[in-house]
Amino acid sequence: MSTTWNLEQIPERQTIPLSAGADGYLGRECPQSECERYFKITPGTGLSGIDTCRCPYCGFEEHQGQFHTKDQIAHARSVIVTQVMGAMLKDLKGMEFNHPPRGAFGIGISMKVTGSPPPVRGYSELDLETEVVCDACTLRYAIYGVFGYCPDCGTHNNLGILDANLRRSAQMLALAVASDDPALREYLVQNALGACVSAFDGWGRAVCEAFAAKATDPKKVKGISFQNLTGARDKLRLMFGFDAEAAVGVTDFNSVHRAFQKRHVVAHRMGVVDADYLKSTGDAGSVLGRKVVIEAAEVDATSAALRRLAAALAAHLGGLP
Ligand SMILES: [Zn+2]
Ligand SMILES: [Zn+2]
Repeated sequence: MSTTWNLEQIPERQTIPLSAGADGYLGRECPQSECERYFKITPGTGLSGIDTCRCPYCGFEEHQGQFHTKDQIAHARSVIVTQVMGAMLKDLKGMEFNHPPRGAFGIGISMKVTGSPPPVRGYSELDLETEVVCDACTLRYAIYGVFGYCPDCGTHNNLGILDANLRRSAQMLALAVASDDPALREYLVQNALGACVSAFDGWGRAVCEAFAAKATDPKKVKGISFQNLTGARDKLRLMFGFDAEAAVGVTDFNSVHRAFQKRHVVAHRMGVVDADYLKSTGDAGSVLGRKVVIEAAEVDATSAALRRLAAALAAHLGGLP
């Protein structure tokens, strides 16, 4: 008579399903030992038919199966251990016996199997800081920090983040144009310009840092301020061989520089034109000691030129060896 062991019934290879959280995200972890950083994706939202994944932080690309988190692997292991232990206990249970003692000095032997398999270890995903929908492939993913590569198509999200911030500036401009209160209009236009400058400064610093390894002197990249456009132009030329004036044209470059200097006057001189402003911009339309004038159309044009400048710089940095 042959015995069918429960243990033998467990398949040698199994697929343990991992379920996404209530928010639709499935945790992932970069397999590169220097990285091992955590991110999340929503399965089914990006490219179909690919079997690789890319780390949004370091850009490392590998088969999707290599991106399981430590918690997910521990969960899968515990599913198997629970199955094996359960089967072993059943098998042992089938071997229980009881031989009672016989005769005057007989010794009885028995075996009784007790115990239960360990419970399956669960896992939960972590909260992250920035949710992104990739412009190029529509993958929904979440990361620590702000900037990263799309895990599906590899597109860097920096321009998408810049666009989101420039849209905020455009919303303020729309409010300004709709307002019939001159003081409120002036305030909103100034703030819309301020939002453009901050968005571009934050974007520029982060992108230069991300590509610092390609600079002629990576240590100096951290200090580039994009609030001063001519200063940034000189440093970008020196560090990355990028010509910001050529990228948008000298006329547009000078207009953006003037708008940035106007914002400086608003932020640090109560909006009153000083000698530094006139020297830096050569603005014939402004008078020393008078309030600087910022038109909504000027902010709109600045935003559009910044977007072109950013796209050109991102393409240039991406193409560097
Ligand atoms: Zn990585
Ligand atoms: Zn993508």
